[in-house]
Amino acid sequence: MVYKLGRHALRFLLPTSCLLCRRATRHGLCLCPGCIGDLPVPLITCNICALPLGSPGTCGRCLARHPDYDGIQAALLYQPPVSQLVQRLKYSHRIHVAHLFASLLLPLLTSREDVPDVLVPVPLHSGRMRRRGFNQAWEITRRLSRLCGIPADPKLLTRSRSTPAQTGLSASQRQRNLRDAFCVNGETVKLHIAVIDDVMTTGSTLQAIAGTLKRSGATRVTGLVVARAVKQL
Ligand SMILES: [Zn+2]
Ligand SMILES: [Zn+2]
Repeated sequence: MVYKLGRHALRFLLPTSCLLCRRATRHGLCLCPGCIGDLPVPLITCNICALPLGSPGTCGRCLARHPDYDGIQAALLYQPPVSQLVQRLKYSHRIHVAHLFASLLLPLLTSREDVPDVLVPVPLHSGRMRRRGFNQAWEITRRLSRLCGIPADPKLLTRSRSTPAQTGLSASQRQRNLRDAFCVNGETVKLHIAVIDDVMTTGSTLQAIAGTLKRSGATRVTGLVVARAVKQL
């Protein structure tokens, strides 16, 4: 009986077919190995903001002004089919896609010499959280924490106020929009904090968060994002 129940639960929990091509998956991820291998990966990127570049180095914007964060790593490029997977994370197949994204971020974290002290998700404002019912960045962060053993804290950083949607705003408008949008609710002094998000477009959210964390005493703030926009907006 227990055996049957266990098998039934497992079938419910583990995806059995690839979300993109519908072929059978047997390794517990929601994409087959072929579709994972075909996902667009950033090759040469800015060594600070992870913007795709033609040759190794630092992009013009980071050279003009070093962001408050110390460096961002991106697992994938934000273009189809990654953008479709991100939508699925927000609206359906949340558990399976969050697990896939955490397992794609894991090698970025384990290949680094500067291991973060704590993983923190980019917070959603409580209103949006209530409407959606969950924070997709936390869904990824807590699974990544389980995989790598680094503690995660969903309450260290909160949104102090609701910010209008960022879509359609220029980078400077986004920065103004996000000023004082975040607050810190715990110990950050001398910590290396890795901030986790699903998508990075201009980086203005990570910039605002890094500024807030540094002012509260963090020595190092790095970002780990699943997908990076291909162009600087
Ligand atoms: Zn597939
Ligand atoms: Zn850059």
